[in-house]
Amino acid sequence: MKIICVGRNYADHAQELGNEVPEEPVLFMKPDSAVMQRNNPFIIPAFSSDIHYECELLLKIGRNGKCIDEEFAFRYISEIGLGIDFTARDLQAQLKAKGLPWEKAKAFDGSAYLGDFMPLSEFQDVQNLEFELLKNGQSVQIGHSAQMLHSIPKLISYISRYFSLKMGDVIFTGTPAGVGRVESGDELKGSLQGKTMFTLRVR
Ligand code: ZN
Repeated sequence: MKIICVGRNYADHAQELGNEVPEEPVLFMKPDSAVMQRNNPFIIPAFSSDIHYECELLLKIGRNGKCIDEEFAFRYISEIGLGIDFTARDLQAQLKAKGLPWEKAKAFDGSAYLGDFMPLSEFQDVQNLEFELLKNGQSVQIGHSAQMLHSIPKLISYISRYFSLKMGDVIFTGTPAGVGRVESGDELKGSLQGKTMFTLRVR
């Protein structure tokens, strides 16, 4: 499986990092080796002193497709989940400044945390979902899928022009404002529509 991530899909987050709001989706990928073991803690890697959480709505792909029309996009999604795109912000800033690819900052081992998934059929309107991340019991991110700059059908269509989607692939749809650093000992808890989707320790 592969993981395709969308950057800058919420205007408030693009602004907090001083990035311009893009006209087209910003895409990057994580390899399957980036997926964290579900019940392990997240271990801060030695090469970064500024690891950020980015809580994101996840789409699991349920059938293979390429060049998918927006109107058929939901046929290709089997499940909706919540996860964290862990980012070495210090490394990313260095790479960005030099115009280099982001992989070392975004695709390292353990950088993709996948929480629970629920069947697509359990949601009435996927473009109208609220999710929240709590850090040590305090709310740090609240996202609403209605505020995405590029809607879910548009993302599926756009991504599949470049990369064939395969069953089991996961799309990270971007993070809202409120990203921040994790420290050893932190507890991250994510919820979707009020339901807890993961609880994760940082070490
Ligand atoms: Zn992200």
